Amino acid sequence: MSPEEFRRHAHAVVDWLADYRAKVAELPVQTAAQPGELLAALPRQAPEQPEGFAAVLADLERLVLPGLSHWQHPRFFGYFPSNGDLASVLGDFLSTGLGVLGLAWQSAPALTELEDRCVDWLRQLFGLSTAWQGVIQDTASTSTLIALLCARERSSGHGQDRGGLQDGGAPLCVYTSAEAHSSVLKAALLAGFGRAFVRKVAVDAQRALDPRALAAAIDADRAAGRRPCAIVATTGTTSTTAFDPLEPCAELAARHGLWLHVDGAMAGAALLLPECRPLFHGLEGADSLVVNAHKWLGVAFDCSLYYVRDPDHLVRVMSTNPSYLRTAVDDRVKNYRDWGIPLGRRFRALKVWSLLRTHGAERLRQRLRRDLELARWLGGQVEAHPPWRLLAPVTLQTVCLRHEPAGLTGAALDAHTLRWLERVHRSGRAWLTPSQLDGQWFVRVSIGALATESEHVAELWRALQDAVA
Ligand SMILES: *Cc1c(COP(=O)(O)O)cnc(C)c1O
Repeated sequence: MSPEEFRRHAHAVVDWLADYRAKVAELPVQTAAQPGELLAALPRQAPEQPEGFAAVLADLERLVLPGLSHWQHPRFFGYFPSNGDLASVLGDFLSTGLGVLGLAWQSAPALTELEDRCVDWLRQLFGLSTAWQGVIQDTASTSTLIALLCARERSSGHGQDRGGLQDGGAPLCVYTSAEAHSSVLKAALLAGFGRAFVRKVAVDAQRALDPRALAAAIDADRAAGRRPCAIVATTGTTSTTAFDPLEPCAELAARHGLWLHVDGAMAGAALLLPECRPLFHGLEGADSLVVNAHKWLGVAFDCSLYYVRDPDHLVRVMSTNPSYLRTAVDDRVKNYRDWGIPLGRRFRALKVWSLLRTHGAERLRQRLRRDLELARWLGGQVEAHPPWRLLAPVTLQTVCLRHEPAGLTGAALDAHTLRWLERVHRSGRAWLTPSQLDGQWFVRVSIGALATESEHVAELWRALQDAVA
């Protein structure tokens, strides 16, 4: 495509997206698409002859859009928000349009230095000490894998330089809570620890990791001749936004020489708010931290902030140094290829920079506070209207609720929950996520989409009541 054709079509794309965002609230939040529907509408072979970009945009509207649920919808209350603020969308567009790659500092110097500055801006905004250095990864899943690889190499004295996992030796163990995100177990398995050596430590009544159970698990492994290696603590669990107590985790990690990784994928954004920082008490004692800028914060997917206290260790574990990537300035610069898994690095910092400069930190804080307030309001409504019931304290922006008519328990209660949720979804009025606690279904209301205002939460509350009526 020539630059002149691009100019014309890009204007059309921007208009299309602006119209989409302006009217998304009028669309049903979830699609009614059936499995295979789009596949059946798409040609089986790629075109041999040019069809032109206008045909792509037309089919996007006609075929693709009906097959999408709307994450940027003001009544999106599912999973966790994945906010793509339009300022960061512009940064993403610029990044792709520039088409530069950070393989080494020299391959795109400004890419590295803008990333360096943006992650440090966020470090300061999060109230983290200067002991931390950050880098952008694609996702929290990747960041946690990197953390566990670094933990493994620290415990094994860089076993990767010898026989790696084939060297034998006492097994290394990983500790996380029973409420940890599925990506933690996945990372531990991919890093080679083996399911038999991943300990799902018990949680307390608040669903937070119980430090006494953690200490007991570590002691039991040591007594049996195994090597405790890493703790993955979650600040803001996916199911109920429980906060594992970081201070006792850090004490145990220090006492036994374990790596402490903190999964703050969603709730880490709350570090922007000084009043929320007590929830993270003990964080400075961790070795690594991940916060997804692509969730509540508003940076368009994908953008995970990964902070470490020992970048030299990270670089030693991840380093590659083939002749064609060496440059004369390597000893004076950051080569981010050595701070993660892929060689090629997108210019993701542009979308962080666009977001922070367009809005300023204070406006981001105000938005997060708005969401906390909306969640408190909904939590109050639920508590004031039995048989609705709150299943967990409203710590941040997630409200865990269930409608419990007298006499309904067990499987009958589950059936009721899933039935009214299905009614809400079919109405197109809201999108929520069911989850289980102690084997019983409940519904998570995750507030925090950019466009969600009090009227939308009020509409959700009406939709819930209509669904059980
Ligand atoms: C969302 C989430 C993840 C996974 O995030 P990805 O960036 O999609 O890998 C992990 N942990 C927690 C606590 C999360 O909320």
